[in-house]
Amino acid sequence: MRLTVLGCSGSVPGPDSPASGYLVQAGSTSVAVDLGNGTLGALQRVLDPFDLDAVVLSHLHPDHCADVSGLIVYRRYHPAGPRRGALPLHGPSGAVERLRAAYATDVDDRLVTDLSDVFDFRPMHDAFRLGELEIGAVRVDHPCEAYGLRVRHEGRTLAYTGDTGPCAALAALAAGADVLLAEASWPHDGNRPSGVHLSGQQAGEVAARAGVGRLLLTHVPPWTDPQQMLAEARSAYDGSVDLVCAGASYQV
Ligand SMILES: [Zn+2]
Ligand SMILES: [Zn+2]
Repeated sequence: MRLTVLGCSGSVPGPDSPASGYLVQAGSTSVAVDLGNGTLGALQRVLDPFDLDAVVLSHLHPDHCADVSGLIVYRRYHPAGPRRGALPLHGPSGAVERLRAAYATDVDDRLVTDLSDVFDFRPMHDAFRLGELEIGAVRVDHPCEAYGLRVRHEGRTLAYTGDTGPCAALAALAAGADVLLAEASWPHDGNRPSGVHLSGQQAGEVAARAGVGRLLLTHVPPWTDPQQMLAEARSAYDGSVDLVCAGASYQV
């Protein structure tokens, strides 16, 4: 299984990276996990967007789904035309309305906007299969309906926290994963609201408790020092820890 980082800048695009988006590939299957601002361009460096088999959205904040609007335009208006029909899209319960609203230009347009030619909207199930990938989804702690994802292929497991504060669900999500892709959004010191994001230290603690094989840190916003996130995570977890960067690929 291969993880390619389309974008990893937390909360907003940054000078060196689009916002959150990942491509997970195994065998003949290619799935986009989140498509934040700027990730559609990065995706095109890796594969033809018509060759995606599905999109999975962890939640509906713009930094995780803004470029779905671009993907609609691409698949609907590309001169080659849609070659595979509607693309399966798994997301939170409000995904259809949210993505219609993002694409439509005004209230009247929203009433007539129909994305069913481009997407086959599907709810987020606890467990489902996308081609050669087995996906598990668990609710995590964020100000909106948000999921962490567990992706499995031939005995290997990639766990992705999405956006979340510390919560009990992260233990099951990350348990024994070969790679944990964890958000690390803010320093551990200071007063932070609960139920929003992880600090670098908290990402490390999740990795240590779950016994993961490798920790990859992502979703560091432009206003947070990535080296501090790395140092915090290393203080809590003895295994291999790296900050991901846009365009990089990782074997899981
Ligand atoms: Zn985010
Ligand atoms: Zn979010």
